[in-house]
Amino acid sequence: MPEGVKLVAVSKFHSIETMKEAYNAGQRIFGESRVQELTVKQPALPEDVEWHFIGILQTNKVKYIVPFVTMIQSVDSLRLMQEIDRQAKNCDRTICVLIEVHIAGEDSKHGFSVEECKSLFSDNILNQFAHIQVCGLMGMATFTDNTEQIRHEFGTLRTLFDEIRSMPNVDRSVFCDLSMGMSDDYRIAMEEGSTMVRIGTSIFGVRRYNFC
Ligand SMILES: *Cc1c(COP(=O)(O)O)cnc(C)c1O
Repeated sequence: MPEGVKLVAVSKFHSIETMKEAYNAGQRIFGESRVQELTVKQPALPEDVEWHFIGILQTNKVKYIVPFVTMIQSVDSLRLMQEIDRQAKNCDRTICVLIEVHIAGEDSKHGFSVEECKSLFSDNILNQFAHIQVCGLMGMATFTDNTEQIRHEFGTLRTLFDEIRSMPNVDRSVFCDLSMGMSDDYRIAMEEGSTMVRIGTSIFGVRRYNFC
């Protein structure tokens, strides 16, 4: 990885043994997308692992991960934000979150629209959450071979990120993560200014379905 780009090793569907190998090789940031899998794995790995949640998160499951998770990258509604804040307050923690932005052409992807995201910041909507630190944005490009389309989508997210960072009410020392890029498109994402890539298959191989 180039200097300054953080690597999130996406370990969903991979075994604890496989993750320990990555840990022993120096990897500390792991990304998971299912609450149950994450809560089984967390106690099995050393305490200095940074856990990032990157999947669809139901509000009724927030309470299971807030006691230990470092970052929730996939915040796609205010309702979810409210619940994270509430649970974080209960266990006296502050949770870093990324706002997920819908940049892909596909409807199946989640997230706020570019305009909605902008107004979350310009209208100071996020300041009400005392136990959340908004550390940046996350996005996924369309699943396609069209590299120009992917580049354009990542470019859109980068432009939004820069615009938010330059708002007078946004603390640039906190709002500094731009999470974009997976196994198939991380090179393009880094060229477009990603600061954090989420990579599974290129590290661990094809996903298996019995994770424990
Ligand atoms: C699974 C997943 C990844 C990793 O995908 P790979 O193609 O295996 O690198 C990255 N981000 C999210 C949100 C994911 O769900």
